[in-house]
Amino acid sequence: MKQSIESFHLNRFQEWVADLKCGHVVTMRHNPPYQDCSWVGSAKGRQAHIGDIQECVNCDMPVLPEGLKLVEKSSLYQQDTIPDYLESGYTTDAGVWARVIVKTGLLQFIVHSQPATGFILDEYLSGVLSPGVRHDIKPAMGDVEFYIEYYGE
Ligand SMILES: [Zn+2]
Repeated sequence: MKQSIESFHLNRFQEWVADLKCGHVVTMRHNPPYQDCSWVGSAKGRQAHIGDIQECVNCDMPVLPEGLKLVEKSSLYQQDTIPDYLESGYTTDAGVWARVIVKTGLLQFIVHSQPATGFILDEYLSGVLSPGVRHDIKPAMGDVEFYIEYYGE
C-alpha cells in the first residue's frame, strides 16, 4: 500500500528511518543503484522528502479481529530453540489466531496466502497468523527472541 512520509528518526543502529502515515516505518538505506537515499543524511534533504510516497509492505499484514481473548502464550524462543513445526508451514488450530511478538532481533515471517507475502518482524512489527493459513517463522539474521500469543473467541 502506498503511504506518505510524515517524518524521520534515527533507529538504534543509527540508520535513518521514515515514519509513514500508516504508523509503520521504513529504513532508508542508501543502496545505489537500487535505492538512492544519499539525501537522508542531511536535515535539508530529509525536509525535502517529507510527503514522498513509499510502498509499505507492512500494511499487508493481516489484522487481529477485535473481541478475541488471549488463550495461551508460548515460552520465549530463540534462534536455536525455535520448534521445527514453526519454521515450515505452520498453521494454527481451527478458529485460533496468533500473534508473533519479537523482543529482540529480526524474524522472517512468510504468510502463504495468495500470493505469499514475506515480512521482517522486529520489536515494532508483530506478525499476525490467521486460522487456516500456512506460515513460516524463521530467524532472519543473528540473534532473535520472540514468543507467540494465541487468541480465540
Ligand atoms: Zn504501513
